[in-house]
Amino acid sequence: EAITVAELANRMAERVADVVKSLMQMGVMATQNQTIDADTAELIIEEFGHKVTRVSDADVEQVIEQVEDSEDDLKPRPPVVTIMGHVDHGKTSLLDAIRNTKVVTGEAGGITQHIGAYQVTTDSGAVLSFLDTPGHAAFTSMRSRGAQVTDIVVLVVAADDAVMPQTVEAISHAKAAGVPMIVAINKIDKPAANPTKVRTDLLQHEVVVEQMSGDVQDVEVSAHTGQGLDELLEAIALQAEILELKANPDRPAQAAVIEAKLDVGRGPVATVLVQNGTLRQGDIFVVGEQWGKVRAMENDRGERVKEAGPSVPVEVLGLNGTPEAGDVLNVTSTEAQAREIAEYRAQVAKDKRAAAGAATTLDQLMQKAKDDQNVAELPILVKADVQGSAEAIVQAMEKIGNDEVRVRVLHYGVGAITETDVGLAEASGAPIMGFNVRANASARNTANQKGVEIRYYSVIYDLVDDVKAAASGLLSAEV
Ligand code: GDP
Repeated sequence: EAITVAELANRMAERVADVVKSLMQMGVMATQNQTIDADTAELIIEEFGHKVTRVSDADVEQVIEQVEDSEDDLKPRPPVVTIMGHVDHGKTSLLDAIRNTKVVTGEAGGITQHIGAYQVTTDSGAVLSFLDTPGHAAFTSMRSRGAQVTDIVVLVVAADDAVMPQTVEAISHAKAAGVPMIVAINKIDKPAANPTKVRTDLLQHEVVVEQMSGDVQDVEVSAHTGQGLDELLEAIALQAEILELKANPDRPAQAAVIEAKLDVGRGPVATVLVQNGTLRQGDIFVVGEQWGKVRAMENDRGERVKEAGPSVPVEVLGLNGTPEAGDVLNVTSTEAQAREIAEYRAQVAKDKRAAAGAATTLDQLMQKAKDDQNVAELPILVKADVQGSAEAIVQAMEKIGNDEVRVRVLHYGVGAITETDVGLAEASGAPIMGFNVRANASARNTANQKGVEIRYYSVIYDLVDDVKAAASGLLSAEV
């Protein structure tokens, strides 16, 4: 836990110069951008007569505690639907077809925009929310981050094909999540369509559709002709009724991040799906390791909205950073709470990664390789100012090591160290070696957050020497 002098002063609402002076009196020489450890910060805080509050797990839980909603406060909410199935069986086409036939376009030109989710109204008046991100990766990564967003899975199987590996995968995902399925037998317009084969195929995976006297609804559809689409939507509405989905619109919002990106013009933008409560413009929130204040919201039709209730997808502006899909957003009562929780989580995540042996410094890598007899491999990332240097470094790296130890250059390139580099390094537990290049600000921040080591060199020899030292450390460890 560390904090910059400037940030500390800012939080105490004291002048930076006074804090620096006070630090000096304690024998700590620090400029405003330097960080000081938590214990020193605590002494300073007391020195200025403020109260020290350190955030803990308990505090986080208290702030975002789930107050049980009483039965009376619960109102029906639309189901959230995810479309899954094998590649090319028509997930995207189906999502597009449903959107095109059912979304009442907004007044302003009627251009629907992609925000990762959309809502439709069926002919019988039921509202359904679709996650516009087909693919199992999204589904599982959201689930692994604690956001169970999907209420109903539509399993798409092409009628001219059969149950395929990803169909089976989708069935497993839905079952593991305890989410009911509806089977959409797509491409029924094709001459080669054989829906009966699909139904019998599914039997082998313990999916017994209604036509086979089971209880899983099945609908024959064509994303191309539109046949069966209304029927499919009514089937979803019926399933939703059985589930009796409810939420309490009259409480501070909890929402799940569907998609998030850094928009050049607008800053960090997240599409969230409200799970409970109502999200309002001006709300202060924490979302994963980020926090913010709802500056503006847009719905799936690109219209500005002031509030979003349960199961409504909206794009949110006003974040301090980009959260990850599956992160949960909670409205807090104060900005201090929101940022403290965000910072606390970032710190906990960082500590965890360090503890888990996400070896990202050379020294840690050596230690890890020592511990693990089989792995004597140093992964590194190289960024250099010109192609020639990058190649020279990679060649030198390849010469280091022997049968027992080896340097693996995961990636090398020319130019500044970017967030993408940091992401790759983090995923592989590798340090980044920069030769005559620097990391840009966002890469530095991310590296700090994720605990990725970045080393800078201006002499190739020094760089090679450091890596050699690490490698020979491995070798001597094996003797
Ligand atoms: P995804 O990979 O599951 O998202 O599948 P796509 O939606 O990309 O569809 C794969 C291919 O099947 C595309 O060439 C579509 O045009 C075609 N396709 C999708 N639905 C239908 C359908 O109902 N009928 C016919 N004939 N072709 C379809």
